[in-house]
Amino acid sequence: MVMTVAWISLFVLLGLIFGSFGTVIVMRVPKGKGIGGRSRCVSCSKKLSVRELIPVFSFLLQRGTCLHCKKRIHWLYPFIECATVLLFLTAFWFTESSYDQLSLFVFRSFFLALLLWLLLLIAIIDLHTQMIPDTLNIPLLLGSIFYTSFFGDLDVLALILGGGFFGLQWILSRGKWVGSGDIILGTSIGALLGSWRLTIYWIAVSYCIGAAVVCYFLATGKKTRKDRIAFGPFLVVALWMVMVMEKIFDSLRV
Ligand SMILES: [Zn+2]
Repeated sequence: MVMTVAWISLFVLLGLIFGSFGTVIVMRVPKGKGIGGRSRCVSCSKKLSVRELIPVFSFLLQRGTCLHCKKRIHWLYPFIECATVLLFLTAFWFTESSYDQLSLFVFRSFFLALLLWLLLLIAIIDLHTQMIPDTLNIPLLLGSIFYTSFFGDLDVLALILGGGFFGLQWILSRGKWVGSGDIILGTSIGALLGSWRLTIYWIAVSYCIGAAVVCYFLATGKKTRKDRIAFGPFLVVALWMVMVMEKIFDSLRV
């Protein structure tokens, strides 16, 4: 019990650290900027001190504004930090069963956490820029194939289904409905799910979420039929949902 609490605390802490690092990646990578150097306020460019860089807490203590220029800090910063904590805890929960072999558990849980973290960053960048950078997409693909091959069985059919579904749409629409980044993302998610059956569920769930969100946007007039809507966030949210549902059903079966 004590060990579990210690592990959970460690994953929360790592989630906050990686979440904070994630905000830097999300803001800089799409603009082609390097990720080194101290963070600055996006409004007044003032270098941030250590006490302004504490994940989530700085945002709450400063009531969501910059200490220097008093401009609002984007809600995405604390959102990415909190979401990363959730994903790190998800990774812990998924790999807890391999607890008996400590080194394997540490490696597996941390590796899965990093993959989920990459997926979150890809979803957010896609949402904002409608582009998925290869610098995140390719490591995700290689990492997902490695993860499933190493810890489970890689289902080649799942990979083909995940990538092929978007590849086909890309060919049919000549790249108008989906981007080439979606094909790589679909292949990665197929690899991570590791089963063609789950990959089909995932495609179905993605489309249900996507359709619901698009209907909402059209009905409220927030978007028109001409607007392009990024698909990446639906794919990533659906993946998380399918993984969690599968895990719950799995535990019910035992
Ligand atoms: Zn400022």
